[in-house]
Amino acid sequence: MSHFRYINKKLFAEKVSVSTIIKKNKTPFYLYSEKQLKENYSNFIKNFKNVNPLICFATKANTNLAILRTLGKLGAGADVVSGGELLKAIKAGIKPNKIVFSGVGKTEEELRLAIKKKILLINIESESEAVLINKIAKKHNQKVSVGFRLNPDVDAKTHKKISTGKAENKFGLSIANFSIFYKNIKKFNNLKTNALSVHIGSQILNDAPYKKTLNILSKVIHDLKIKPKYIDLGGGFGVSYNKKDKLINLKNYSKLVLKFKKKLNCNIIFEPGRSLVADIGVLVAKIQYIKKSHKKDFVILDAGMNDFMRPALYDARHEIIPVTKTKIKAKRSLEFVGPICESTCKFTKYIKFQKISENDFVVITNTGAYGSSLSSNYNTKPLIAEVLVNKNSFKIIKKKQNLLDLLKS
Ligand SMILES: *Cc1c(COP(=O)(O)O)cnc(C)c1O
Repeated sequence: MSHFRYINKKLFAEKVSVSTIIKKNKTPFYLYSEKQLKENYSNFIKNFKNVNPLICFATKANTNLAILRTLGKLGAGADVVSGGELLKAIKAGIKPNKIVFSGVGKTEEELRLAIKKKILLINIESESEAVLINKIAKKHNQKVSVGFRLNPDVDAKTHKKISTGKAENKFGLSIANFSIFYKNIKKFNNLKTNALSVHIGSQILNDAPYKKTLNILSKVIHDLKIKPKYIDLGGGFGVSYNKKDKLINLKNYSKLVLKFKKKLNCNIIFEPGRSLVADIGVLVAKIQYIKKSHKKDFVILDAGMNDFMRPALYDARHEIIPVTKTKIKAKRSLEFVGPICESTCKFTKYIKFQKISENDFVVITNTGAYGSSLSSNYNTKPLIAEVLVNKNSFKIIKKKQNLLDLLKS
């Protein structure tokens, strides 16, 4: 969170105080730092410098066009999981030859679009999908560049709802099924197998599962005598949501990947989402009411689970910090909650917090990834605005949705 920091007890985003932005924009809204985004991208590149990978940003982590444009200008490609994301990435200026398309349930329409746009890779996740792509490609007399997403059956040791690489998860082809399938690959005249891909989960804080995955890939490639042009190693790099979180040493992982790359003589693709955007954003909210209860006070914000779903969906803990700091302590423990009519519409609990009052402002930290992109209109609430700070200026990069649009159906 280095570009969100306090100067004289006031929270700043780069060189703009958050209260200045609040004066111009009604809460709640997402607030992003462009500098943080650029730094995260260049740090990622630095860590994998020798590997020289193609970095395909997992757009589902943050689908804002301005964010995608910035990453595109820095050289990033995109990992998309729907036709909508594909079109958005292209609209943001990302070239189709830097776009990979993942997902277990791509529709025929989405596949046609991807084939028409001639993207870098469609990462196939089932035998039936391969049959369908081959059929569409044949009709258009085209040879389609595909990858096969494998399910290596490794435990990413992350929250079970964001694990994707175990046999029990729906993603990818099992090694056994792929091995059988690949023996007949020659029958699929209109597919060009350019890649193998994996993505074993998200918020991974330990390099052991990545190591295991590399070993499994090496073995499959050796056993089936495949010569893929690309190996797509997915994303999943964890971020530090809490001070306790110990991060993976990317430099060490990079060394392993480099060895792997040299042995196989292939290009490497990564699909980072969270690690590029989590700490670029905060969710700015107003304290509407403070309600006393038996053992704690409920601090009722104007932002809810519809705006930021991670706590309700994954029990994620996101620290909440004040826009203006004081040394005076609150007398009771607090629980920050939102307005939505669900008991899971709650954020973080504190035994110790500073003294706060109604109409004060706070921010929910590290909400740049899977924040806005997971938000919804639940309880007929409009989607909220998004603001981007760049040095000492800021601009709205997504307008708050018009409530009237929600009343149409
Ligand atoms: C979501 C997703 C990613 C990004 O995961 P992060 O944990 O955000 O890095 C990468 N690849 C695929 C296929 C995904 O579905």
